[in-house]
Amino acid sequence: MLTGLMLAQQGLSVTLLDKAQVGGESSWAGGGIVSPLYPWRYSSAVTALAHWSQDFYPGLGERLLALTGLDPEVFVTGLYWLDLDDEAEALAWASQQGRPLASVSMSAVYDAVPVLGSGYEHAVHMSGVANVRNPRLVKALRAALVQMPNVTVHEQAAVSGFVRDGERVVGVQTAQGEVRAERVVLTAGAWSGELLATLGLELPVEPVKGQMILFKCAADFLPSMVLAKGRYAIPRKDGHILVGSTLEHCGFDKTPTDEALASLKASAIELLPALADAEVVGHWAGLRPGSPDGVPFIGPVPGHEGLWLNCGHYRNGLVLAPASCQLLGNLMLGQAPIIDPAPYAPQGRLGSR
Ligand SMILES: Cc1cc2nc3c(=O)[nH]c(=O)nc-3n(C[C@H](O)[C@H](O)[C@H](O)COP(=O)(O)OP(=O)(O)OC[C@H]3O[C@@H](n4cnc5c(N)ncnc54)[C@H](O)[C@@H]3O)c2cc1C
Repeated sequence: MLTGLMLAQQGLSVTLLDKAQVGGESSWAGGGIVSPLYPWRYSSAVTALAHWSQDFYPGLGERLLALTGLDPEVFVTGLYWLDLDDEAEALAWASQQGRPLASVSMSAVYDAVPVLGSGYEHAVHMSGVANVRNPRLVKALRAALVQMPNVTVHEQAAVSGFVRDGERVVGVQTAQGEVRAERVVLTAGAWSGELLATLGLELPVEPVKGQMILFKCAADFLPSMVLAKGRYAIPRKDGHILVGSTLEHCGFDKTPTDEALASLKASAIELLPALADAEVVGHWAGLRPGSPDGVPFIGPVPGHEGLWLNCGHYRNGLVLAPASCQLLGNLMLGQAPIIDPAPYAPQGRLGSR
């Protein structure tokens, strides 16, 4: 949706096709942390997209609210990482990148987050980290898109393959017929590999299931995001608390499981013991578009003129989206790219089947 919005804002005519409802898959299901979970563990390719996007999010939230009346609730809470094994690496990365990550005493953490569980021994904190309320973000994006005279949104319109004219891709096939276009952008998340396979290409993007649970607490229950042992708690502005997530390689199955529910609940209570008395008001799963090292595919598909990719954002598709979409637009429109596009180029990263 953000790809479509940014292209439409540059004057292109955009038709968006979705097999179900736009924004109903991973982008709805995610936690919405506007940062990679452990930013120092990623390559400079992921960092470059993340940093550009982090600066862009608050303005995006405001613009979408002004355009649509729907608030994506970009909520700047900061984030505490507890008992990291690689704290020294994290701090070295932050000082090299100029990011506001600092070691903090546990007494300062307990002062700031009194509901935090006991027994944690050390912590680092990054101020300024935000989260965005995914369901509201996708609702606002959809509303912004349908308002635009140069945008058409077709839902319940699954794409089954590409229309070709020689080496050129000139459209897509759907059950309702062909949709022709000068350029086609594949942004099908975890399903992108299946679609590219219809052209005999192997795109290393595979579904990685993630389950989340949701609690409802008082609005001031948790003032900051907290993360320990790979599990995190994210406060929304109205007191909803999301706890996630699992990482499961089990194909396209999105069924929430009792096992994950029990495991997430146990993590939630360890992090924030008062959640033992709170009700779980939601439990769902989404399919992340897993890619090698989490580096997305952004750019033209070699040998298939007219076909472009913007997919494979794995665990970071919310935070990486603005820069990814802007970069794709730069490349499609022959503009100077906001960052070096080379690491994301499909060229050399696709196999043949
Ligand atoms: C539990 C969980 C927690 C996460 N937490 C975070 C986080 O805190 N921060 C962060 O940055 N990222 C997070 N993510 C990752 C993020 O959600 C994804 O990287 C991102 O949403 C991917 O966006 P996308 O548009 O590529 O894919 P999607 O949102 O999955 O969109 C793909 C769309 O393509 C459509 N589609 C698929 N096949 C077809 C077809 N054949 N024809 C037509 N349409 C089709 C689908 O219906 C879908 O709407 C999380 C993900 C999960 C699951």
